[in-house]
Amino acid sequence: MSELVTAHPWFNDRFQHLTQLHQANRLPHALLLHGMPGIGKADFAQSFAHYLLCQQPENNRACGHCKPCELNMAGSHPDLYLLEPEEQGKQLKVDQVRALNEFIYSTAQQGGYRVVVLNPADSMNIASANALLKMLEEPGGDTLILLITSKIGQLLPTIKSRCQHVECHPPAEAEAVSWLMNAAELDEERAKNILHINLGAPMEALAYINNGLNEQRAQLVRGLADILKQRRTALEVAQAWSKLNIELILSWFYSLLIDAARGALCESSEFIRQDDARNMINAVAKKTNPVRIFKLADKVHEERKAILLRQNPNKQLLLECILLEWAALLN
Ligand SMILES: [Zn+2]
Repeated sequence: MSELVTAHPWFNDRFQHLTQLHQANRLPHALLLHGMPGIGKADFAQSFAHYLLCQQPENNRACGHCKPCELNMAGSHPDLYLLEPEEQGKQLKVDQVRALNEFIYSTAQQGGYRVVVLNPADSMNIASANALLKMLEEPGGDTLILLITSKIGQLLPTIKSRCQHVECHPPAEAEAVSWLMNAAELDEERAKNILHINLGAPMEALAYINNGLNEQRAQLVRGLADILKQRRTALEVAQAWSKLNIELILSWFYSLLIDAARGALCESSEFIRQDDARNMINAVAKKTNPVRIFKLADKVHEERKAILLRQNPNKQLLLECILLEWAALLN
């Protein structure tokens, strides 16, 4: 049996606020947890659900040894409903939302709260959002629906207005570094580097380590440097990269370009956060004007969005175009 999920320490204030609302009988029927990806919102939601279902919370956290806690540890509590797309990245089907009806309007099997965790809430299309809307308008008693999103702009206004918003901020750098050092057994410098690569999001940084993304990252930095130093052509690098996770490559490339543009704009290297590419980014920032770099960053961003929407079939061609522009930056 595994342990209960705990909310990360940087959410302590938020967590405490929710437990206070609960104890004052003022907990709303729907909470919308929003904030940047990779900071632990899902763990926060689940941990709060476990607290609500626990029979004898200790220090405002689930106790970890009552019957409901044991059911939660086994992932089989009948009053906790995890609602997510059948496949990651796909839309939530309207039938999946309709299936919630029975759960929401029945009596809790363990006699307390019924909790739904919907992750990510931006996976709802109009039909599934409308199906959920009915439940948000007339929720049963002792029901909580926790919606999670890192793309709050994509939710329907009618959904947003029926939820109480809980804004989730990433931890301060020092807190994130020490958390990551602990979680992944890293020294401070390495933890800092990896956090910067992942824009300060601790869970993304941990996933980066656990999924062995270092090698792909090294290929990105090496490829970009080789082009600038004319050791390889843009076409050769594009070919080498076509086997990599292109969405990830473009997202990293985008961050590097933004760092370079900021460096060029401020004529300083202190804004360059990506330590593994610092020299290269600094060289680009010094020799190119920021407008050109921002333009390329925009293009990379647009291409990445197109790939996410699966509109672009030819990855290698796309990479070639972008890398030719990268090569041209120093000309
Ligand atoms: Zn318990």
